[in-house]
Amino acid sequence: MTAKTMDELVSLCKRRGFIYQSNELYGGLQGLYDYGPLGVELKNNLKQAWWKAMVYDRDDVEGLDASVLTSPKVLQYSGHEDTFTDPLIDCRSCNSRWRADDLVELRCPSCNSEDLTEPRPFNLMFKTNIGPVDDGKNFAYLRPETAQQIFTNFKNVLDSTSRSLPFGIAQIGKAFRNEVTPRNFIFRTREFEQMELEFFVVPGTDEKWLDFWVQARLKWWADQGIDPKNLELHKVKSHELSHYSKTTIDIMYGFPHGLEELEGIANRSDFDLGSHTRDQAELNIKSKVKENPDSATRLAFQDKQTNAWEVPYVIEPSAGVERGLLAILNEAYKVEKLEGGKERLVLALKPHLAPIKAAVIPLKRNHVGLVEQASKIKKTLQSLQLGRILLENSGNIGKNYRRHDEVGTPLCVTVDFQSLEDHTVTLRDRDTMGQKRLPVSEVPAHLQGMLGIK
Ligand code: ATP
Repeated sequence: MTAKTMDELVSLCKRRGFIYQSNELYGGLQGLYDYGPLGVELKNNLKQAWWKAMVYDRDDVEGLDASVLTSPKVLQYSGHEDTFTDPLIDCRSCNSRWRADDLVELRCPSCNSEDLTEPRPFNLMFKTNIGPVDDGKNFAYLRPETAQQIFTNFKNVLDSTSRSLPFGIAQIGKAFRNEVTPRNFIFRTREFEQMELEFFVVPGTDEKWLDFWVQARLKWWADQGIDPKNLELHKVKSHELSHYSKTTIDIMYGFPHGLEELEGIANRSDFDLGSHTRDQAELNIKSKVKENPDSATRLAFQDKQTNAWEVPYVIEPSAGVERGLLAILNEAYKVEKLEGGKERLVLALKPHLAPIKAAVIPLKRNHVGLVEQASKIKKTLQSLQLGRILLENSGNIGKNYRRHDEVGTPLCVTVDFQSLEDHTVTLRDRDTMGQKRLPVSEVPAHLQGMLGIK
């Protein structure tokens, strides 16, 4: 069973410290969210899972962490200055603004007026000043996608790693879009994180690699706890493709507000490297690119046998961290009926994503002997570096179990008076609510087992 409404997720996220409205103290800023004590852990765990699958588990991918502030030249040649726009419509009656493609009928969703302007392009990129003089000339963009600085670093990475095709460059980082109508909680925000891989391939092998990455990404989302039944592949229609794309497959997920894009996997052809490269005329670039007199570097690959230069094609799986979190929270949220007509809310997260891996709970709050024993167990478990282990010194075991069910902690370790005598503890499982007694010395291996490490 998935969450019934977005409101239930929003409420859980705020109550338990996953996600808060940003700048709430001063009325909030629309389209921005802050990640609280548990949100930051969940987010980091998701990013780590992506990095592990995309970089560590492969032998053909390198990592990168490039700057957010981006030279206007990069986004001029990438095509974003001209084409990274949404069609905007103003309501003349109430002055509200809408994305034209969001208006199903030609009426203002706010006041119902039909007195609307014609759609006009609105560029989604944020600008900021560079240096002390605000003369409108020295500015940078906040990157609208992490991808561009991967392309501009193509030669740096190639030269410093001696890679040959196919190979990829992966990056996780913030992206910024001045969305006209941010909404649906963290689904569409103005500041978000992307997990992007640019996978460079020999032209002609691109569609085969596109298929490969679509399948690999579907499997990865399933490994994060998304039921494959809730995912759909949509091939983007040719008239809806981004300016750089030859083919794009969107992975759609049934969010609480409807079926929408979770991740896009694009065949960006040789458009980006071709656009940013020097020596365009000598490189047989197949996409339509603007002439580039400004680039300092040739972004191409030389075949060692034939010495011929070629601009690689690139396949890009691009996933949003926040949309991933929303889907994962939606999948994990379960209300279970218990005996006696009671209910429990449980967040059945995959253990590797859980913000707290284990809570160690002394049966009696502030009892010196119990707290000391619990602290020792907490330290031992923490030293395994599996993620956050919490010492829960607040008494009331039942309340603690319920709280940890709600935040997805897979394991609770309870230290009671018997523990002081025989060095055994009670382990309580989040999903089955089953309890068993184990010697303290066996707890680390048990937790590692739950996390699939041993
Ligand atoms: P949409 O059509 O929903 O605006 P998009 O096609 O513009 O998305 P891409 O440019 O393909 O999105 O970006 C890749 C991924 O980045 C998306 O699949 C999504 O997960 C994430 N993303 C894009 N825009 C936003 C946003 N405003 N807020 C949160 N995540 C976003």
